[in-house]
Amino acid sequence: MTPLHFDNRFLGELPGDPETGARLRQVHGALWSRVDPTPVAAPRLLAHSAEMASRLGFDAADIASPAFAEVFAGNALLDGMQPFAANYGGHQFGHWAGQLGDGRAISLGEVVNADGERWELQLKGAGPTPYSRSADGRAVLRSSIREFLCSEAMHHLGVPTTRALSLVATGDEVVRDMFYDGHPKAEPGAVVCRVAPSFLRFGNFELPASRGDTELLGQLVDFCIRRDYPHIEGEADQRRAQWFAQVCERTATMVAHWMRVGFVHGVMNTDNMSILGLTIDYGPYGWIDNVDPDWTPNTTDAQGRRYRFGLQAQVAYWNLGRLAGALSPLFDGVEALHAGLQGFIDTWHAAERDNIVRKLGLAGFRDDDAALMQDLQALLLAGEIDMTLWFTALAEVDDSMESPTLETFEAAFYDADKRDAQSPALLAWLARYTARLREDGLPAARRRERMRAANPRYVLRNYLAQEAIDRAEQGDLGGVHTLLDVMRRPYDEQPGREMYARRRPDWARDRAGCSMLSCSS
Ligand code: AMP
Ligand code: MG
Ligand code: MG
Repeated sequence: MTPLHFDNRFLGELPGDPETGARLRQVHGALWSRVDPTPVAAPRLLAHSAEMASRLGFDAADIASPAFAEVFAGNALLDGMQPFAANYGGHQFGHWAGQLGDGRAISLGEVVNADGERWELQLKGAGPTPYSRSADGRAVLRSSIREFLCSEAMHHLGVPTTRALSLVATGDEVVRDMFYDGHPKAEPGAVVCRVAPSFLRFGNFELPASRGDTELLGQLVDFCIRRDYPHIEGEADQRRAQWFAQVCERTATMVAHWMRVGFVHGVMNTDNMSILGLTIDYGPYGWIDNVDPDWTPNTTDAQGRRYRFGLQAQVAYWNLGRLAGALSPLFDGVEALHAGLQGFIDTWHAAERDNIVRKLGLAGFRDDDAALMQDLQALLLAGEIDMTLWFTALAEVDDSMESPTLETFEAAFYDADKRDAQSPALLAWLARYTARLREDGLPAARRRERMRAANPRYVLRNYLAQEAIDRAEQGDLGGVHTLLDVMRRPYDEQPGREMYARRRPDWARDRAGCSMLSCSS
């Protein structure tokens, strides 16, 4: 295998747990614990991201070699790897949950590639750690496929995200209560190697703060600035203030991207919020088919609907409030933290306006455009209309028409009665829209180009991922490979692949595992 260059700064510069191994424990005064992955029976590489592999410095021969599957199943280490689990806490569903930590994720080390980029490699499902609590440290194939595919799909959609290098079958079985129906089921296990410049979460900062360990907290903040935000300079206090402000801005930008493409994270606990503003922890996430701000993919959240589509900006803000609270012992007053939080609001509003302009194909934002978009959203909800298909079709509208028809939108409707009921209002909206476009004066070709770059044709619809999973569980990886490839160019027309851009079929509407999922699988 091509040797990689490791520079394991997290371990090198921050205090670790003196104990090693997977014995369960509360870890005080330390940010990580040394623990090796637990070997699996029969590693087999099921899929990999060619882009990520070459970015790290692997070539085709590396990927084809049996050693690759061994390493990325956790059965062998490359020179320079130093496996560890990180220690963090978090607010889960609004409540402080204490120490959580990497219960089934094990970081292998930090690669510095030929371009000087830093990429931490992390196995998910690699066996128990000191933080596994009552769980097994493993992941099932279906949730691993979902994480692998969605990480790469989000990247190609232009959404800040952790990446995925590989998906390896373990050859071992994992037992799960399928959707809490009380019937344990043995399922195939898998390990995903995910990749990011840093896997630090809000919860890494909250845990030392919750224990009153201000020194450790300060060490971690300054480390994060040095390693992950090296462009921030100045006096220590100013650096920390700027850093928090940038965390807030990045978080707002990330959520605005989610809203643009119709992604619902599903478990926005503070342990699942990246300090780099990356989408992290693809558990019970989902994609919006018919527009519905109240939809959540998380069955655990079915009552509270805390993690529904339309509430994601508010929840992100709440989470940043928890982070600000944790950081407050490091600041003299509250001004800098308040300024950071206000920066979230400002960035969010700017990004929302940008989404409106880009999704509707406008030259610039006018105040009444917010109402234009809001009214459209209400109609899309009332008419049970597919978000992705609506905006794809909207780009094709002829703006010289004073009364465009709904003909080109036919594929976006889920319910004929609701379509008929909303038709007059939708037609009135379209007339208002084309009038707005004529005032705007952007040439139609330019407008379409802008809209096609902001409104994906292909998203990882829940039922598409489920179909690929069903096939994979029968030993056929074709669906996974095809979806991975389709999602490489989500904004392009892909002749012959129209079936991946269709609305959700009726059979998939309420099927468990298809539109609704539970947390830890
Ligand atoms: P999540 O809801 O996926 O963000 O997980 C919350 C916490 O539970 C984290 O500390 C995870 O590491 C841990 N966890 C989830 N699933 C497992 C598992 N199968 N084994 C061990 N720990 C787990
Ligand atoms: Mg998590
Ligand atoms: Mg998870």
